[in-house]
Amino acid sequence: MRFIISILVLLCACHIVIAAEPAHDTSFAIENVRVFNGERSVESTTVLIRDGLIASVDAELELPSSLRRIDGTGKTLLPGLIDAHVHIFPGAQEDALRFGVTAALDLYHLGGAEATAAFRAQRESLARVGEADTWTSLTAVTPPGGHPSQMAQSWGVEIPTLADDESAEDFIAARLEAGADYIKIIQDATVIGDTALVKFESERLREIIDSVHAQGALAVVHVSSHEEAERAINSGADLLAHIFQDQVATAELVTLAAEHDVAVIPTLAVLARASGTDHVDRLTAHEGIAARLSPAQQHTLAADFGRSRTEIIERALESVGRLHAAGVDILAGSDAPNPGTGHGVTMHQELELLVEAGLSPTAALHAATALPAKRFGLTDRGRIEPGLRADLLLVTGDPTVDITATRDIVGVWKNGYEIELAAD
Ligand SMILES: [Zn+2]
Repeated sequence: MRFIISILVLLCACHIVIAAEPAHDTSFAIENVRVFNGERSVESTTVLIRDGLIASVDAELELPSSLRRIDGTGKTLLPGLIDAHVHIFPGAQEDALRFGVTAALDLYHLGGAEATAAFRAQRESLARVGEADTWTSLTAVTPPGGHPSQMAQSWGVEIPTLADDESAEDFIAARLEAGADYIKIIQDATVIGDTALVKFESERLREIIDSVHAQGALAVVHVSSHEEAERAINSGADLLAHIFQDQVATAELVTLAAEHDVAVIPTLAVLARASGTDHVDRLTAHEGIAARLSPAQQHTLAADFGRSRTEIIERALESVGRLHAAGVDILAGSDAPNPGTGHGVTMHQELELLVEAGLSPTAALHAATALPAKRFGLTDRGRIEPGLRADLLLVTGDPTVDITATRDIVGVWKNGYEIELAAD
């Protein structure tokens, strides 16, 4: 592709300007642009990027004449999106980056110290990369017979579990020593066929979460039901992965969540798929989106649960709306590559669903940028402000008014390097 473009440039440079390859210098300015800085909008300003970092946000900047400039008129510049719930596989982080997702938080990874060392090296560097940065829990704390052991056979692997007579402290320490960034705990009593998945009893769950905290990490608890969400919050969970679908959050649960300052990553896109909504169809009907999908993204987006129960998404949206209204932090996460999702691309649907749940477009964007950065302690990103890395997403229009404008992507930068937006 690059080769062909170079020839075209040679042949045609005399009379047409071709937007060929992205520029590869990491110092430039975006002028006359609306900035969503991670919390709120600033109209018509200039953002100066120097050596891969955001140097300044100021409408009155005097720019050196030699500096490359990009006109941001009619466009909005956002921090690169942070997907707070993914399961990565080879190619996933490349797919994510093309859709403006510059950081992704993995919540179940079979790798070990070698993988986490590579993730850490990438995200601490300002080098030119073609992938989103990665954080991970590694494998989760789950009892024998707990989720996802029912799936492990089809994966062809044995997954570690924590039996009642084993040390929770040692199990957690092993993950942290292997470089886990936070600990995922599974609390899922879903009945599959005739058998319920095994979950931890309250006392054991509290002991596990206490041990996570004693070892200085965050406890992210996967919950499947209202009852388990309540148990997880009462046991000290910092974050809940997934919103339950068995009932709408009660006023008591909402108050409990707010009092405990728990954050919720509801992963609504998967629930919308399970409810048979048309969100995926509308997402993939967008021309720019469709043009950038890799075969892997097309495949997982097209996958289905083979059932459609509209009450699943209706209850979930209602619960998220109530939690948000009570001041509970809601974080955007795609749960890609589950059926009906794709890495990166699904964040643009999750944002729409968060708005349907009752978040303002600005609050939804906050849920995908500064808020996950704050809750997960990512101090060098999630906002557009001096000193942070230039992980940026430029879109046409104003997503703080119409959230679907995030789909109209015109530029993505990682560490100040512009990303090739077409899929290979
Ligand atoms: Zn997941």
